[in-house]
Amino acid sequence: MVEFKKLEQKKVDEIVNILENKYSDIKYYLNFNGSLQLLIAAILSAQTKDTVVNSLTPALFAKYKKVSDFAYSKVTDLIPFIKSVSFPENKAKNIVECCKIIMEKYDGKVPDNMEDLLSLPGVGRKTANTILINAFGKIEGIPVDTWVIKLSYRIGLSSNKKADDIEKDLKEEIEKKYWKNIAYVLKEHGHRICQSMKPKCDICPINNLCPKNGV
Ligand code: SF4
Repeated sequence: MVEFKKLEQKKVDEIVNILENKYSDIKYYLNFNGSLQLLIAAILSAQTKDTVVNSLTPALFAKYKKVSDFAYSKVTDLIPFIKSVSFPENKAKNIVECCKIIMEKYDGKVPDNMEDLLSLPGVGRKTANTILINAFGKIEGIPVDTWVIKLSYRIGLSSNKKADDIEKDLKEEIEKKYWKNIAYVLKEHGHRICQSMKPKCDICPINNLCPKNGV
């Protein structure tokens, strides 16, 4: 791998501004209505394409409407609804367990703070940040997924490998007003231009700023 080149702060500001403007139309990619549906969809989306999750959640949410529906479901009853995601048995167990805890500890309501969200099985910082931002409008951090990890390294934002460390770097470098969307902006840039195997550097709007780490 090519030696990492850290980006100077002025260029970070420019890059973030350019990308935010270019992808100003993007929206959060999982379909949901309310915090419970987002919690379930986010758990299902780990190592699974958003399109797969969005294709199965209408039938799932038609049958399971409340926290108690999930909490009192048998894991084996839930699995057929989610069998197209990766690790369906584990995710079904986590969902049922999560909802039991929400019933017992949180009065049947999905928690709206980082600490309580992180106490739920299957919920790490990425999912917790996603829920806080998109269901509660609370912006405490940046959800770090595989696209954010890849592009943060390539663009020169973070040389770290662990998601939590990358999030810390990004929070130090990126103005808070951008935290809400930056993960989705980077993901979109990865899909459209900065693709893993063959980034389209010739048409990239930040090609005069990017150190092209790993290219
Ligand atoms: S210049 Fe190339 S490597 Fe850098 S962000 Fe653009 S597409 Fe990716």
